[in-house]
Amino acid sequence: MDFRLHSAKSADHALEIAASLKDGWRYVAGGTDLVIQLRRGVRKSDDLIDLSSIASMQGIKEDGNGFELGALCTHKDIELHEGLSAAYPALRAAARVVGGHQIRNVGTVGGNLANASPAADVAVALLALDALIGAKGSNGSREIKIDDLFVSSSKTTLAPGELIEHVRLATPVVKTHSAFLKVGRRKAMEISVVSAAICLAFGANDICEKARIALGAVGPRPLRAKAAERLLEGAEIDAGLIARAAAQARAECSPRSDPRASAAYRSKVVEGLVMRGISQCVGVS
Ligand SMILES: Cc1cc2nc3c(=O)[nH]c(=O)nc-3n(C[C@H](O)[C@H](O)[C@H](O)COP(=O)(O)OP(=O)(O)OC[C@H]3O[C@@H](n4cnc5c(N)ncnc54)[C@H](O)[C@@H]3O)c2cc1C
Repeated sequence: MDFRLHSAKSADHALEIAASLKDGWRYVAGGTDLVIQLRRGVRKSDDLIDLSSIASMQGIKEDGNGFELGALCTHKDIELHEGLSAAYPALRAAARVVGGHQIRNVGTVGGNLANASPAADVAVALLALDALIGAKGSNGSREIKIDDLFVSSSKTTLAPGELIEHVRLATPVVKTHSAFLKVGRRKAMEISVVSAAICLAFGANDICEKARIALGAVGPRPLRAKAAERLLEGAEIDAGLIARAAAQARAECSPRSDPRASAAYRSKVVEGLVMRGISQCVGVS
């Protein structure tokens, strides 16, 4: 595994380095996905552009409108941020089940998104939270709705050379509740067999005004169960509706069998997770 490592001092510097290299280079942040892919020969790169020293892409900022997470925020940064955890428990719940402590100390939110695994835990939580992805490329900066970021496994709508600078989350409206649930083959160091993130916002009389149901590892990308969301929106949620929404979410998945679980098992589990996730949100509304 031979490569040249280029240390970028700013996002613009990273773009300059990228423009000066021949094809075959990659950005690296924590390296927890990429280094394994290089070692296994799944990817080959002669040049890696190391983003980890870019100060402007670190940390979590909060203002009156919400939160801005630098792309280099680690899962541990997210897990330990009290304001973010209080606003969006689903995000904290996702961050704290990524790998083990060592992985959470170095793995970043930008890497979790850009790697575009259908099973990426934090990406699934951010999908339920309607995150906006701040990207920078040779044509300038733009914000991408997270639902428009994922294409398929390992494929995003980022342009060649475009990097993720930050992730933005709006302050939740008053009665917003979120939950993240994951089933893996063991508790630590294990990617999800199935995951589900739910975010529900309630208005007067406990009517659900906005519903988001994001699912992991049951399709070619982190996906939203949009028909199930529509069942919940505008309704007062009771046990019967929860069961119908969960069955609908199951119908919207296209899980595959792999050595970790069969498609039939994933289908069954996703229904159970959605049911539990909605119930958790409704229980605290
Ligand atoms: C033992 C182990 C257990 C794991 N368990 C889990 C788990 O439970 N849940 C889970 O979701 N993941 C898990 N992972 C995967 C991984 O830790 C996470 O996806 C992590 O967030 C990746 O971040 P990183 O900074 O290490 O990415 P890197 O490996 O540095 O990069 C990953 C990809 O993203 C690109 N990239 C990185 N940063 C940027 C950026 N800012 N802009 C554009 N492109 C960028 C890189 O070019 C590369 O293609 C596990 C990994 C290991 C090794």
